[in-house]
Amino acid sequence: MTTSELESQVRSYSRSWPTVFDRATGATMYDTDGRAYLDFFAGAGALNYGHNHPELKKVVLDYLASDRVVHSLDMFTPAREDFLTTFHDTVLAPRGLDHKVIFPGPGGANAVEAALKLARKVTGREAVVNFTNGFHGMTLGALSVTGNAMKRGGAGIPLVHATPMPYDDYFDGDIPDFLYLERLLTDAGGGMNEPAAVIVESVQGEGGMNTARAEWLRGLSDLCKRHGILLIVDDIQMGCGRTGSFFSFEEAGIVPDIITLSKSISGFGLPMALTLVRPELDIWEPGEHNGTFRGIGPAFATAAEAIRRFWSDDTLERSTIAKGLQIEARFNALVARYPDHGLVAKGRGMARGLQFGSGDLAGAVCAEAFDRGLLVETSGPDSEVVKLLPPLTLTDEELDRGLTIIEESVAVVLG
Ligand SMILES: *Cc1c(COP(=O)(O)O)cnc(C)c1O
Repeated sequence: MTTSELESQVRSYSRSWPTVFDRATGATMYDTDGRAYLDFFAGAGALNYGHNHPELKKVVLDYLASDRVVHSLDMFTPAREDFLTTFHDTVLAPRGLDHKVIFPGPGGANAVEAALKLARKVTGREAVVNFTNGFHGMTLGALSVTGNAMKRGGAGIPLVHATPMPYDDYFDGDIPDFLYLERLLTDAGGGMNEPAAVIVESVQGEGGMNTARAEWLRGLSDLCKRHGILLIVDDIQMGCGRTGSFFSFEEAGIVPDIITLSKSISGFGLPMALTLVRPELDIWEPGEHNGTFRGIGPAFATAAEAIRRFWSDDTLERSTIAKGLQIEARFNALVARYPDHGLVAKGRGMARGLQFGSGDLAGAVCAEAFDRGLLVETSGPDSEVVKLLPPLTLTDEELDRGLTIIEESVAVVLG
């Protein structure tokens, strides 16, 4: 039997990239035949600092070589304390954030479940407002606030207590953004259950690289304040510098009540997630929320080192914004080159998308790119967006090479 017969058919990425990956450094993965691939997917945003960053790798090797504690539930360890202190001093405090850190379990969905659960406990309400094309994870709570019909279909039970609302520009500017939501909230005949929280992404990665404007996010934040609704920003994919600043909502100048982080927070691709909550929301009794994998020592160690290395100054932030603008310029040129195809350049920072007329076209571009040694995936409700999440640390030469492969692939597919 081949291993793909041993494994469930639910696997997905290995279908787009049918080879066996063996080694990886920086922005490059190598398969077992030694063929190199530029990785413009970076673990769906879990590898913002690239594969096996040498300084972070050294931290893991030293950690293991000296028999430090690998698994610790939520017991105190120097690694946990170092992470908490470094995260506070370097990320939270300079941004004026006084949020408490909850370690909700190893994955992004754990962080989202904790956020939803706590928001409901704090407010005593059940409903959560979510947005069209939002993605928050595959567990039942996270799936209930996720838009994608195919993913929701896997739940097997009704997904309830979520009220979908239009994301920024859903109606192409035809309707004032918060007219409908605010009207439902205030109208005695609106039929809306008072929401505990609103959950939103500043840029919808899985949903097709849709960006919310800063003023839209500010409007949402104001509306939440006016109605006593908690604002949850899911920064699992767009946080840790993906859009430039550490948190994707910094540009908008808002302060969410609850923030979820995962994907790149360990800095090394190790499982780790955080739910950050304003101090007055920190009301769970000891052990009321719990989990076995909330203290993975090597992940704390690489997370602390990654924050010291990349977030002690604004070098990475400025480079991400500059590289993002290069991608935007090349995508805009493609849009102009194929006027009949209605391509759309989307995204912010180094979260970028090129939208095609159909999922088939976007998928064909990704397949051509794979043949040319570039890993890129699609996103969006119909998989119609070619999605770029390269490591933030890639070189200008690697960025240029990857973009050239995309241009060549688009030329083959669109003719
Ligand atoms: C990936 C992702 C999640 C889910 O994280 P998992 O680790 O896959 O559970 C949730 N929200 C957003 C925005 C994500 O990109």
